[in-house]
Amino acid sequence: MLDLIIRGGEVLTTDGPVLTDVGIKDGVVAALGDNLGDAGATIDADGTWVGPGFVDLHAHLREPGQEWKEDIGSGSAAAAAGGYTAIVAMPNTDPVIDSGHLARFVSDRGKQVGIVDVIPSGCLTMRREGKTMSHIDELWEAGVRLFTDDGDTVGDAAVLRLVMEYVAQYGGVVSQHAVDPSLSRAGHMHEGAISSRLGMYAIPSEADEVVIARDLALARLTGVRYHVQHLSTAGSVALVASAKAEGLPVTAEVTPHHLMFSHADVASTDSNFKMMPPLRSEIDRDALIEGLESGIIDAVATDHAPHAALEKEVPFEDAPNGVLGLEWAASVVTTMTDLGMADFFERMSIAPARILGLADHGQRVAPGHEANLVVYQPGIEWSPAASASKSRNAPYFGRSLTGAPVATILRGVASWERA
Ligand SMILES: [Zn+2]
Repeated sequence: MLDLIIRGGEVLTTDGPVLTDVGIKDGVVAALGDNLGDAGATIDADGTWVGPGFVDLHAHLREPGQEWKEDIGSGSAAAAAGGYTAIVAMPNTDPVIDSGHLARFVSDRGKQVGIVDVIPSGCLTMRREGKTMSHIDELWEAGVRLFTDDGDTVGDAAVLRLVMEYVAQYGGVVSQHAVDPSLSRAGHMHEGAISSRLGMYAIPSEADEVVIARDLALARLTGVRYHVQHLSTAGSVALVASAKAEGLPVTAEVTPHHLMFSHADVASTDSNFKMMPPLRSEIDRDALIEGLESGIIDAVATDHAPHAALEKEVPFEDAPNGVLGLEWAASVVTTMTDLGMADFFERMSIAPARILGLADHGQRVAPGHEANLVVYQPGIEWSPAASASKSRNAPYFGRSLTGAPVATILRGVASWERA
């Protein structure tokens, strides 16, 4: 007898979307078909898409060191509720993840919680100071494949070149938080008509673009796989497009908040619209949506960034950057884009798993594959009211969204089911 049958959904198989049941046994997809017999449990998947569980390249889980905002337990719960089966933990914790034993701590904690695969990322530079290379060799041995100083940009081109050369030897990915610190230091929002009206110090689009342009030159020099985090401007999308046209091994991500909001939302001075890079113009937002639809932008990544209410409920200028995202990223994608089923799973799961080199995530559904799956209802209208995160800093509460996860399955077991 099967352990679980997912019944009646449209399944993303190796032959494309097929209306079929999915039978699961011992953590693995056992069979596809219409008469699979009995099972220990059933998920009704009528009107849903069934595909590989989502993979997030960019989550801040805040453990170790800032557990009042989030920890690996609460962050994992939010991820499972958002349809994720694997997430990359950002290394800007306290201490930062610049050595092997710290990366191992993060993956071990993830395994203890056990409802989503938590994959550590590691710093590019020691203490994220941008001065000397981190312990890339140890980090690689501990399972790190994606290296980033996220939250800060590596400003020194010679240091970045050296790290790129080193990471390239391993076949890893250098992932950049591309915001030039000298252009962004004093700013709180996008530089444009709204910042002028509000009289707020602001950050030009060029803060992102000068870093990406430099990094692409260094990627060309070193041959490293280079990934741009949280694209925010039309110019950045154009830079990535031209690098891809040239054949450089470059990939890019966009966050749900940059797909849904713009600097116009900052006029409210609600700190849930404060993030880095900042929300930019409507022209930029449209270019990000178009880039995601065309595939110039490979993946959606949440930049899930919990902050406690006490920290975020302060004047806009004083608030820390970042918002939650794990639970609503997929919904934002089906609300804001025209992606069809196969492309939706490509951007949410298959591409990020490929960037990380994961074998057991981001696979189309087929017998023999590990059952890391999501059941996703693209047509449902809903409005977020709650969160599994320890924090509440999100601009999505009370907003109407189209599409929501129904169930998340990790190695054949439901890690989350909609109530
Ligand atoms: Zn960042």
